[in-house]
This record gives sequence, structure tokens and C-alpha cells, in this order.
Amino acid sequence: MTTNRPSCPLCSNNTKKNGTTSKGTTRWRCTKCGHSFTRSTQTHNKNAATMTWFIQWITGTQPLTQIAVTQNVSAKTLQRRFHWCWWIIPTPTIDTFRIYDQIFLDATYLKSGCLLIAASKTHVI
Ligand SMILES: [Zn+2]
Repeated sequence: MTTNRPSCPLCSNNTKKNGTTSKGTTRWRCTKCGHSFTRSTQTHNKNAATMTWFIQWITGTQPLTQIAVTQNVSAKTLQRRFHWCWWIIPTPTIDTFRIYDQIFLDATYLKSGCLLIAASKTHVI
């Protein structure tokens, strides 16, 4: 039997009704992770769910085929959905308290532009 309940956009688990918003839209709450949300046709929630599964896959030990089974899709479909996730560059953690006595700068002109390289005495910054 199919229901009209949305699944959680973060963990794809079951949800239950959790009142309404001030506009009267039904609010849903995940029974597992507690995420509260309203239904929307925006792709934002879908992308968040895809990224959650992607991170679970690349940081976990489950093979892609096993995650695909839980998602009720094929592994190939999951690979297609994860394609854009590979292109997100994580923000590097910047040590704002790091002070260098000397910084060496060098530049090289490439076909696509200028490559600026900053290095300390021991490593590239
Ligand atoms: Zn959830």
C-alpha cells in the first residue's frame, strides 16, 4: 500500500505529520532523525538528500550496490545522481593564527591565466 507521506529528505526514513506552518502548509517530521520540513517541489531538499547519501557512501564501508538497494534504484542510477557531488570542492580549514616569518611568491603564466604560488620555507601555502 502506498501512502502520500513524503520520506525524509535527509535520511529517506518514514515521517509523520507535525502540525502546520503559519501559512497552513503541513509540516512533516522524520521519525528517525527528527528533521522537520514542509513539502516542496524545490530541488534543494533532493540535492541535500543526494549529498547525504554520497557522503555516507564515500566515508562508509557500504558498497554502492548496497546503498542502491536501500534506495530502490540501480547502482548506475546512483552513480548518475552522485555525479555532481564529485565537483564540490570542500573549503580548506584556514589556520588564521598561523604567522610566517617569510613568504616566497612566484608566478607562472599559463594558457588559462596566471598561477600564483606562495610558499613558506618548508611547504607550499
Ligand atoms: Zn530523517
